[in-house]
Amino acid sequence: MTQEDLFKNLIAHTKEDGYIFPSSEIYDGLGAVYDYGQLGSELKNNIKKYWWESMVRLNENIVGIDSAIFMHPRIWEASGHVGAFNDPLIDNKDSKKRYRADVLLEDYIAKLEEKINKDVEKGRKRFGDAFDEAQFRATNPNVLRNARKIAECTERMVAALNANDLDALKQLILDCEIVCPISGTKNWTDVRQFNLMFSTQLGSVSGESGTIYLRPETAQGIFVNYLNVQKTGRMKLPFGIAQIGKAFRNEIVARQFIFRMREFEQMEMQFFVQPGAELEWFAKWKETRLKWHKALGMGEENYRYHDHEKLAHYANAATDIEFNFPFGFKELEGIHSRTDFDLGRHQEFSGKKLQYFDPEKGESYVPYVIETSIGVDRTVLAVLSGAYKEEKLENGEERVVLKLHPALAPVKLAVLPLVKKDGLPELAREIMAELKLDFNCQYDEKDSIGKRYRRQDAIGTPLCITVDHQSLEDKCVTLRDRDTMEQERIPIADLWKRVDEKVNMRNLLKQLM
Ligand code: ATP
Repeated sequence: MTQEDLFKNLIAHTKEDGYIFPSSEIYDGLGAVYDYGQLGSELKNNIKKYWWESMVRLNENIVGIDSAIFMHPRIWEASGHVGAFNDPLIDNKDSKKRYRADVLLEDYIAKLEEKINKDVEKGRKRFGDAFDEAQFRATNPNVLRNARKIAECTERMVAALNANDLDALKQLILDCEIVCPISGTKNWTDVRQFNLMFSTQLGSVSGESGTIYLRPETAQGIFVNYLNVQKTGRMKLPFGIAQIGKAFRNEIVARQFIFRMREFEQMEMQFFVQPGAELEWFAKWKETRLKWHKALGMGEENYRYHDHEKLAHYANAATDIEFNFPFGFKELEGIHSRTDFDLGRHQEFSGKKLQYFDPEKGESYVPYVIETSIGVDRTVLAVLSGAYKEEKLENGEERVVLKLHPALAPVKLAVLPLVKKDGLPELAREIMAELKLDFNCQYDEKDSIGKRYRRQDAIGTPLCITVDHQSLEDKCVTLRDRDTMEQERIPIADLWKRVDEKVNMRNLLKQLM
């Protein structure tokens, strides 16, 4: 099965099983807006909990806040969003479809990379054990030609984006002979800039002065509260402020399911440091954040760093953590060294001092900032696509299973009486009444036990407990593991401990220490 087919199956599965629904579906949906169902919202909450606790609980010098979505409009002038939060857009005149010029070029580069990888694989098959990949890459004419194309395109794209040269971007698209995926033609308009912020009107004030924006990132809520938190929390550098919340962007090219949405959620942390110490902290946060992802057990090979070649004018280092989504490696999280740009600008625009008095140095200065910024929804997609498996079992049957990390799984265990009579449901209910105080449980007595196991596999429940006639006598139940499908007989009295060992968030957090 191709990755594309697998992705389609995953999207269908998340809808069928109550993870994610298209928003306003009975009105035919609303582009790039999604709702989380009964299981999706649990998964999302668990992801947020993992992030929050890894930041705010494990680090004594990081605290969390919850700032408002609406903010003073001057904030977005100071942050640069009013002037420069733009995407370069290009339309195909035949299909009338609109694209981001840089994304068209990145897709072109990704296709060339794919061609190179295919050639390398062919070489490996042909030469067998004698295959020397480095030599092949350095000498094979096809590989060399495509590598040259990639280098040239990348260089020209970075130069055009840095210089904000829209004509050069269009020329590059024409020179690379990029066609519209829908119409197949090269009939392109000029490239234009498009601001991504949503605006609305505040109360009774009409016109320009009443215009406010839905925040396009949560970070500015942290910057404008820097002094409040520093003073009231008596925080000493280095320290961090974390926040989880909604953000809104009028994305033009909204596709790939919940990868790019118009309304989404971010988990952001701004870490304030002494000027001069920022690159050391940048390196530390890069490493810490990758560890957080890898602890989820979805394969180390599925993550990579992508250091930015095009740095924003205020940044002195930036990297993305990319995940191997079903449509290739793409950004999951950004880590940026933002210097004193944001606090400096707010100081300038608000006229209020946003400084830190350093008792050791005996002087005041504007701190530097390292930012870690990750999308909740993109993490949901990464986690679901890493977990979704269609398996063929030894007995020839097939099963769909979500191999979610147990700490993230929406339902932790299912309690299943073997039959609907003879006192088994009563005992099952009794067991569940105790366990549901700590764990999200599901009770299910319908259909054969095999069918019930499959239903739980499909939604990613790590454990099932089966209560049978024997249980009434020996006070034991069968505990079944989702991944190994192994079954074990254990005393009811030991259940809480066994479930807790398996699903507690502690298992994830411990790996970060
Ligand atoms: P991209 O290049 O993919 O548009 P970005 O560089 O603009 O992303 P940031 O501004 O760094 O993204 O935002 C930080 C994180 O927020 C991203 O790594 C991503 O996980 C998430 N994010 C950004 N835009 C969206 C979106 N439209 N939908 C879902 N998540 C998003």
